[in-house]
Amino acid sequence: MHRILVSACLLGRPVRFDGRAKTSDDELLARWRAEGRLVPFCPEVEGGLPVPRPPAEIEGGAGGTAVLAGEARVLTADGTDVTAAFLAGAHAALKAAQENDIRIAILKEGSPSCGSLRIYDGRFRGVSVSGSGVTTALLESHGITVYGEDRISDAARHLERLEG
Ligand code: SF4
Repeated sequence: MHRILVSACLLGRPVRFDGRAKTSDDELLARWRAEGRLVPFCPEVEGGLPVPRPPAEIEGGAGGTAVLAGEARVLTADGTDVTAAFLAGAHAALKAAQENDIRIAILKEGSPSCGSLRIYDGRFRGVSVSGSGVTTALLESHGITVYGEDRISDAARHLERLEG
């Protein structure tokens, strides 16, 4: 049975920057949870950041790959550099994924850690740009496919291919 890494906030854990969860009521997630497939993980908490915490964005909306390459930082609105915690969380997520032979992750869209198709533009004005978060970029560079919570049906098709 293939296990799936999931953003802890989608599974009801109140670990977001604002101290809340972003619980998904998706039926597939509920079924996979009952099957014991899901590995909940919050990269920012595992990277050492508190709950609640100031929101952070990637400089210039550059994307997680640029952060991994040392070409962009993750900053809070007041300019505090939280890059090291984001990198630590990403590597902890990769370790958890590899320990569980995980090939698929379902991570919260839009997050500077977990986003897969979009992130914010780095100017704290609520504007999205194409790009992925730091954890997503690291997982994908190691062959793990990341889907946002609005693409769970795509993850299900992927799982079927793996287990078909
Ligand atoms: Fe959710 Fe990911 Fe943010 Fe943690 S880092 S609160 S799992 S979106």
